[in-house]
Amino acid sequence: MNTEPRPAQSARASESGVPGPAPRIVRTVAELKTASRKLLEAAGRVGEEGAEPVSLGLVPTMGALHSGHATLIRQARAENDVVVVTVFVNRLQFDDPADYERYPRTLDADAALAGEAGADVVFAPEEHEVYPDGTPRVLVSAGDLGARFEGRSRPGHFDGMLAVVAKLLHYGNPEAATAVPTPYRAYFGQKDAQQLAIVQRLVKDLAYPVEIRPVPIVRAEDGLALSSRNQFLTDEDREAALVLSRALFLMKERAESRLPLQPDDAVALIASEPRVELDYFEIVDPETLQVLAFNCQDTPFTGTALALVAARVGSVRLIDNMPLTDGVR
Ligand code: AMP
Repeated sequence: MNTEPRPAQSARASESGVPGPAPRIVRTVAELKTASRKLLEAAGRVGEEGAEPVSLGLVPTMGALHSGHATLIRQARAENDVVVVTVFVNRLQFDDPADYERYPRTLDADAALAGEAGADVVFAPEEHEVYPDGTPRVLVSAGDLGARFEGRSRPGHFDGMLAVVAKLLHYGNPEAATAVPTPYRAYFGQKDAQQLAIVQRLVKDLAYPVEIRPVPIVRAEDGLALSSRNQFLTDEDREAALVLSRALFLMKERAESRLPLQPDDAVALIASEPRVELDYFEIVDPETLQVLAFNCQDTPFTGTALALVAARVGSVRLIDNMPLTDGVR
């Protein structure tokens, strides 16, 4: 596993605020490998003794890119020589077929945004490229981490997510393109905290040769966490949805002041908004996602935790979360 990433050797125009060249869109794994190899070779002396290793950053997405995704891509740009963004709406992780059908597909706009943020390549495979035999018969299980919270409300979601992430991490592996050890990082947003925890376990438990780089949540100015699904909110629903981030910020303030969290107050705040139907609000351990029974009610908050929330607002299911610290870390 790599240690702290160093700044990439090849600075691109996008880092100076000027949009870089449009990224190349590739559709097949073979094209992706060829494109990655050429870019890595252009960036440095791949595999030569004594040469600084060149690196690759992978940013998996489902498209409909917004400035949250752009932050992941920019971080990948800053830390690697070559940046690959994947755009694939993965049917297997949708428990609701209607949600899958209406998921926005905006590849041209995605490629433009990815390019501006610093991507070199956009890998946008068709379904048969990723699942040539249809639904895979062998699946990686998210285990107990996948059974709670989002997994309980969306059965099969995390196994479906792992089905594609397990493959994308192989497809993007620069070592497969260059046949020499090449630093490899993959970028995941803390917006999907449970997904991030599960992907970190995938990499650890199945020994993937990639470093997972978590990226903090990007929010709109009013606090709403950016999401590709926000575009389906009516103006009233969007306003109502703000109660979720307010409830999370309430927990953050209390944690930083080392006050008892009293999450019931957050739940009551959410319940005061009739357009919002709460699914869960929990304070958990950031790695194991076990609910923290202590630390919440009457005792002052100490240490670290993660507040998780999910709710339906109108026709849209939203998730959000907030890392909590006692302020002395
Ligand atoms: P998606 O396309 O929704 O599957 O998201 C692709 C990646 O972008 C995931 O790692 C998400 O966690 C991340 N992401 C989505 N929205 C945000 C956000 N508001 N802030 C940070 N990361 C995000």
